[in-house]
Amino acid sequence: MPRAGRPGPAVPAGPPKAGVRIRGGAAIVPKDQDETGAKTTVGEIRISAKAASFTESVIREMTRVAMQHGAINLAQGFPDFPCPPELKDAAKRAIDADVNQYAITWGAQRFREAIAANFERFYGVAVDPNRQICVTCGSTEAMIAAALAIVDPGDEVVVFEPFYENYGPDAILSGAVPRYVTLHEPDWTFDEAELAAAFNERTRAIIVNTPNNPTGKVFTRAELTFIAGLCQKWDVICFTDEIYEHMVYDGREHIPPMTVPGLEDRSVTINAMSKTYSVTGWRIGWTIASPELTDGIRKVHDFLTVGAAAPLQEAGVVALNFPDEYFKALREEYLERRDLMIGILEEAGFKVYKPYGAYYIMTDVAAFGWDGDDVEIAKRLTADPGVATVPGSSFYSRPELGRTKLRFAFCKKLETLQAAAERLATIRG
Ligand code: PLP
Repeated sequence: MPRAGRPGPAVPAGPPKAGVRIRGGAAIVPKDQDETGAKTTVGEIRISAKAASFTESVIREMTRVAMQHGAINLAQGFPDFPCPPELKDAAKRAIDADVNQYAITWGAQRFREAIAANFERFYGVAVDPNRQICVTCGSTEAMIAAALAIVDPGDEVVVFEPFYENYGPDAILSGAVPRYVTLHEPDWTFDEAELAAAFNERTRAIIVNTPNNPTGKVFTRAELTFIAGLCQKWDVICFTDEIYEHMVYDGREHIPPMTVPGLEDRSVTINAMSKTYSVTGWRIGWTIASPELTDGIRKVHDFLTVGAAAPLQEAGVVALNFPDEYFKALREEYLERRDLMIGILEEAGFKVYKPYGAYYIMTDVAAFGWDGDDVEIAKRLTADPGVATVPGSSFYSRPELGRTKLRFAFCKKLETLQAAAERLATIRG
C-alpha cells in the first residue's frame, strides 16, 4: 500500500481488466456474459494511475483517529478557539444582504482590492487587483490550480523536504515529477550544492513554503536570493506558500519571495485566510502572480471550482483591513503558545527543534527507545495518553528520514496545551 499523502509506486496504466461485473441481474450466468452469451462487463472498476499513486492525507487521518480515542488533537493545524467576532458578523451581514450567488470567478472586486492593499501594506509592493490576483478555495486549491496552469506532464518540480504533504500529490496530479531536496536538521538549512544539483532543463517550478510547515523554518533573504539565481538560470517558476506569513518569532522576518530581485515576475504567491484569521473551514485563498501566469491560473480555477464562497469573500475584506495591532497580537499569542509547548515537550522528554515561524513543533523521540516506527508510536500516543500528533515520515519522500520524528501543532487554547501537558507528563512512567 502506498502511504498516505506520499507518492507511492506508480500504477501501470493500461486497458481495464475484465472480470468484475458491474451490472446487476438475477440469472446466474458467467460474470462477464449475459443470458445470450454476449459480453457485458466494461472492466474492473478502478481509479486512475495518478489517483492510485498516493493515498489519503496522514494529517487528516490522524484527526479521525484522535476523534475515535477522544484524544487532544495536536495533529491537524486548525485552531480550537473562535475566529474574530468581526468576521462572523461580516459573514452574516453579507448573507443577509443577499451576497449568495457566484462571485466573479477569479474573486470579488472588493476582496481582490483588499488583498492587493494588504500585500502593499506589509511588503511595500503594489500588485494589480484586476490582473494579478485569483481568489481560490483555500491555499490548497491555489497550489493545485497554479501547478495545473503552469506545469506540463514530464516537467520536474523541486520540493524541499520535510514538506507539507499536499505538495507531492500536487506535483503528481499536474503530471510532474517531484525532485526532493532535504532541509537538514537541526536548523533545517539546505545545502546549496544539493539544491543546485536538483535543477536542470526539465525543471519547471520550485515550491517554497515560508514560514515552513512542519519545521518552523523561515527562509532568509540570502537563501531566497540563492533560489532566485537558480530560478533565473533555469527559467523556473517559484510557487511560494506563505500561509503562515504573520507567525514569525524571535526577530525573524517573513520575506515574500516575490519581493526578492529576480523573482518578481516568476513567483506565484499563495496565501489564504485560513491561518491568519482562524477560519480554516471557510476555504478562502488566493494567488498573486504576473498577469500572464494569473491568466492561466484563473482559467484552471474556473473549471476546478468556479469560485470561492461569495459571502465569505465579503468578510475577507474586513479581515484583510484589520489594523496592524491585530497582526501584532496574533504573533504575540502564538509566541506564547510556542514557548509553552516547547517547555511541555522538553519536560516530557522530547527532543525539540525550535520553530521560528508557523505553528508546529518537530520533535525527535529516539531517546525514549520506544518500539515501532513513527506511525505506530503516533497511533499509540493517540490512544494512551491521548495526544494526537503527526508521524514524521509523512513529511518525507524517504520515510526513514522521519522515522523517529513527531510533529505537534500548537494552534490551540492555552488550556488545551496544559491538558496535553498533563497527559504527556505520564509517558516516561
Ligand atoms: N499550506 C500549508 C503549508 C499548510 O500548513 C496548510 C494547512 O495546514 C495549507 C497550505 C492548507 O491551507 P488551506 O486551508 O488554506 O487550504
